[in-house]
Amino acid sequence: MTPFTHKTRCNHQSGQAVIFILLALVTLVFFMLFIVDLHQIVRRKNQTMNAGDAAALAAARWQGATINLVGELNLMHILALAEQNHEAVHAITNMQKRLCFTGPLTALFASQIAAKNNHIYNDDEMTDLIHEHANTVRHQYATIFNGAMYFPEPWPGAWGEYAAMLDQVAADGIAAGPDNASFFGDPQDGHPLFDKAFYEAVESRNWCWFYRNANSLLNNYNNYRDWPPLPPPDQERYEDSEFFALGLSAYASQMRYLFDPAALELFFRDAGFGNIPPAWLASTNVMDSVENWHVYGGGFWDEWLLIQPDDEGFFPITGPVRAQYNYAGADAVVRVNAGVERITPGIGGGSHNDNVVWTAASKPFGYLEVDGMDSLPTAAANFVLPAFRDVRLIPVDAASGSGNSSSDVEWVRHIRDHVYTYVEIGPQGSRCRYCTSLVIWEEAAFRQQGIEWLELYSDTCRLPSSGGGRRGGGSRRGH
Ligand SMILES: [Zn+2]
Repeated sequence: MTPFTHKTRCNHQSGQAVIFILLALVTLVFFMLFIVDLHQIVRRKNQTMNAGDAAALAAARWQGATINLVGELNLMHILALAEQNHEAVHAITNMQKRLCFTGPLTALFASQIAAKNNHIYNDDEMTDLIHEHANTVRHQYATIFNGAMYFPEPWPGAWGEYAAMLDQVAADGIAAGPDNASFFGDPQDGHPLFDKAFYEAVESRNWCWFYRNANSLLNNYNNYRDWPPLPPPDQERYEDSEFFALGLSAYASQMRYLFDPAALELFFRDAGFGNIPPAWLASTNVMDSVENWHVYGGGFWDEWLLIQPDDEGFFPITGPVRAQYNYAGADAVVRVNAGVERITPGIGGGSHNDNVVWTAASKPFGYLEVDGMDSLPTAAANFVLPAFRDVRLIPVDAASGSGNSSSDVEWVRHIRDHVYTYVEIGPQGSRCRYCTSLVIWEEAAFRQQGIEWLELYSDTCRLPSSGGGRRGGGSRRGH
């Protein structure tokens, strides 16, 4: 009997060893797969960062180049006027208006190439959104409404040409989403339902957001019927591309209110036009004729440091801004995303895909060299001149329209569609992430939780949030 029992124990021991080795192997395999996944995620993250930065820089470069062309055409306008060539003046102004659309769309196209060169694939949803928008432009912008075009065209046939250009860019697929687009007709008003930060505050129970931005909302709200009326579409100017706008406009003025002939001579020389004698300019009707000059749009091209994003008074730029860089204006915000397929089973809550997102902003910079001084920001001169020489990445929160999230397809559909249904008939379940926030918001218990929290802790909301990167009114981006 003894050998038998001994044998059993022996078998038993070797069985344990096999199980142990198997367990160790499985753990090892898991660990190796995990390392491979981790490596993939880090690599993909680096790729999206490079691609996003490259796409934003490419777009800003074309914005700068286009503003320079508009500026050169301003100088040609002066010469054509001096020679009394009114056909040329007309053609030049027309060309400037077209450039305000073709330039930014070239920027959009260039940013796609930059993203794709950095291994970012087309995003089908963003591509569909651009095609969809082209159709809206084609079929709705030029609709006659009360005897006038719904959105007046900057030149005859503009909306057809604009729609065709959008389709052309989207035909090869959109990989870099333009994230600071401002669509004609979208409300620009500060209604919380059009503010992404409101939904994020609900989602993350960020009661301080309510304390800072919508103090009475928590206390006075009962149901969806209590919202103030939705703002009417912002209908002011249609001279700018909706994507990567340049913020330039035609402004009727006499030249003598802008510059004297001596200053003009310097601008011509700086732009490589040769010598244009001030006495000759003064002898023509250049100084006195009322003309449509292309200028930097007010409000858009203001000094950067004058722009206060909200009541908190935080400015996202850290450190001093040199005088020649101190203006807002044309910039490009781009979002790229890339999927990472995990191979480790069971990690990530059953989903084997991760999405890596990167948002980048970039801006063209220029300055005039007047009498050897190079500190004059171009926008300070109001009149557009060819002076853009440089592009730089800027903080996303310092960029124009950084809260628009116009390449967040779910967001665009939400504010164009769902919000209007919601104020009519109440929240409609979880059709999208933002609608889910509205369902939560409608719960009285949820709002009560916020009221009670603020009663106890509202004094903590006065302090700037830790980390320094956070500010109200905009979303945290570029993670
Ligand atoms: Zn929605």
